[in-house]
Amino acid sequence: MARVAVVGAGLGGLAAAARLAAQGHAVTVLERSQEIGGKLGRLTVDGHTFDTGPSLVTLPQVYRDLFAATGAPLENSVDLVRVDPAVAYRFADGTHLAFPGEPGAVPAALDAALGAGAGEQWSALMARAQHMWRISERPFLRTPLAGAATLARLARRPADVATIAPWQSLRGLGEAYLRHPHLRTLLDRYATYSGSDPRRAPAVLATVAHAEQAFGSWYVRGGLHRLALAVAERAVERGALLRTGCAVRRVVVAGGRAAGVELADGEVVAADVVVSNVDAAALYADLVPARATAAPRRALARATPSLSGFVLLLGLRGRTPDLAHHTVRFPADYDAEFDAVFGTGRHAGHPRPVADPTVYVSAPDDPALRPDEDSESWFVLVNAPRHEPGRGVDWDEPGLAERYADRVLQVMADRGLDVRDRVRVRVTRTPADLERDTGSVGGSIYGTSSNGARAAFLRPANASPVPGLFLVGGSAHPGGGLPLVTLSAEIVAGLVGPA
Ligand SMILES: Cc1cc2nc3c(=O)[nH]c(=O)nc-3n(C[C@H](O)[C@H](O)[C@H](O)COP(=O)(O)OP(=O)(O)OC[C@H]3O[C@@H](n4cnc5c(N)ncnc54)[C@H](O)[C@@H]3O)c2cc1C
Repeated sequence: MARVAVVGAGLGGLAAAARLAAQGHAVTVLERSQEIGGKLGRLTVDGHTFDTGPSLVTLPQVYRDLFAATGAPLENSVDLVRVDPAVAYRFADGTHLAFPGEPGAVPAALDAALGAGAGEQWSALMARAQHMWRISERPFLRTPLAGAATLARLARRPADVATIAPWQSLRGLGEAYLRHPHLRTLLDRYATYSGSDPRRAPAVLATVAHAEQAFGSWYVRGGLHRLALAVAERAVERGALLRTGCAVRRVVVAGGRAAGVELADGEVVAADVVVSNVDAAALYADLVPARATAAPRRALARATPSLSGFVLLLGLRGRTPDLAHHTVRFPADYDAEFDAVFGTGRHAGHPRPVADPTVYVSAPDDPALRPDEDSESWFVLVNAPRHEPGRGVDWDEPGLAERYADRVLQVMADRGLDVRDRVRVRVTRTPADLERDTGSVGGSIYGTSSNGARAAFLRPANASPVPGLFLVGGSAHPGGGLPLVTLSAEIVAGLVGPA
C-alpha cells in the first residue's frame, strides 16, 4: 500500500482518488478551495442554481466504468438523462435545425432542415469518424502517452494512418465530405470541444462528433456538479481523506523522486506517490524543481493554450416557449470568432473579445435549478481569448466584464433571444475568474489546445519525469472535457498499480 497525495479535487483528482483508494492505497486529496469540483462547479444566487462549467455529458460509459471499478453502479449515485434534441441550432440566415439525440433520426432531420442530401453527406462523414474512433480510442485515449512509441503504435498500419489523415485539418475534412455550408459549421464547432480552431485542429477531432452522436448527449438531474459530489463520495467511501482549504505550494522531491507535498502553511504531507490535478502549466512552472522537468516545459511552450470562455449566468423571470435544453446561435462569420480568440488572421497578434460570437445557452428544465415554476436558470457561454494582461486581453480591466455581458445580451437579442427585461440574477464569469477559481493558467478551459498536427504529443504525459509524480486532468493526456479527464484518472491508476 502506497501513501498517495492527490493535489486538487477537480473531476480528474477525485476520479483518481476513488480508483486509487479502491486499489487499496492510502489516499489524501488536498484541495485549495473550500469547494470540490474545480471547473465542474456550482453557484446558487437567490434560489437560481447554475452549473458554472460543463453543461454536457458525453461518453457515459466512461463514468459507468469508473463507478463499477470503485464499488457500485453509476445509476446508484447519479441520475443521467438523455438530452433530445441534443442541440437546437440556428444559423445566421435563419435556418433552424433541432439535432436529434437519437442517432437514427439524424439523417432525416438534416434533410428536413437543410435540404435533400444533407443527411447523406453527414452520414458519410460520421462513417469515417466512426472508423477513426475505432482506430484511435484504445491506443490513444486509453493508453499513457509515450512519445515516439505512441506514434509508432498509432502508425502501425498504413491504412489506419490514411483514415486518421494526420496531415488534414478538421476544416479540410469537412470540406472533403460536406457540401452544405451549415454542415461544415456544425463540424467546425467540435474543434471548440477541445478549445481549438477548426482550421488548425486535426481531422481526427471528427471523432468528437461521432462520439456525441453515437453515445448520446446527457444531463445529470440536479446539475452536473452532482457528478463531482458523487465521485467525491465514492472516493471517501473507499477510504480516501478529503481536505479542502489546503493549497499545495510545492511537490517535495527527495532522492530524485516525489516524496510528498508542502502546503501553503508549511505543513508537509509525506507520500510515496503524488498525483497532480493542478493545471500542468502551473505545476511545471511553480510546484516542481525546474531542472527535473525541462522537457515537458519545452513542449508546453511550443503548444497553443486552449481558448477560454466568457460565462453569463442568468436567473430569468417567466418561461421561454419551446426552449431546448441546449441552444446554439451562430454568427455570419465563424472564422472571425477564431481569429479574435486566438489572435490570428485579421487579428494577428491581438486577441480580443469576439464582437459577434456564437452564443451557447444551456437551460435545463430542472426544478432543482430554479426558485419557482415561473423562472429559468440559464448558463450562457461564448468563446473568449485567455486572460493575458500585458500581452492579450486583461479581463480584469475595469468595466470590461459588464460591458461585454451587455454586448452578449445584445447579440442574443439580435438572434431572437431577447431576455433583457426578464433578468433578475446576472453573474459574469470571465477567463480571469476561471483562473482565480480553478488555477487554470489564463483561464484556458482545456489546458493546451489541439491546434496543429503534433498538438496531442505536446500535451504533458500522465507520468512526469519525476518518478512518483503523475498528472491527471484536462491539461494532461488525453486532454480536456469530462470524459477524457475521467480516462486520465484510469490511466494514472493503471500506472500507479494495485497496493
Ligand atoms: C465554462 C466551461 C464549460 C465547459 N463545458 C464542458 C462540457 O459541456 N462538457 C465537458 O465534458 N467539459 C466541459 N468543460 C471542461 C471540463 O469542465 C474540464 O475539462 C474538467 O472539469 C477539468 O477537470 P480537471 O480534473 O482537469 O480539474 P479542474 O476542474 O481544473 O480542477 C483542478 C482543481 O485543482 C485545484 N488546485 C489548483 N491548484 C492547486 C494547488 N496548488 N493546491 C491544491 N489544489 C489546487 C483547483 O482549485 C481545482 O479544484 C467546461 C469547462 C468550462 C470552464
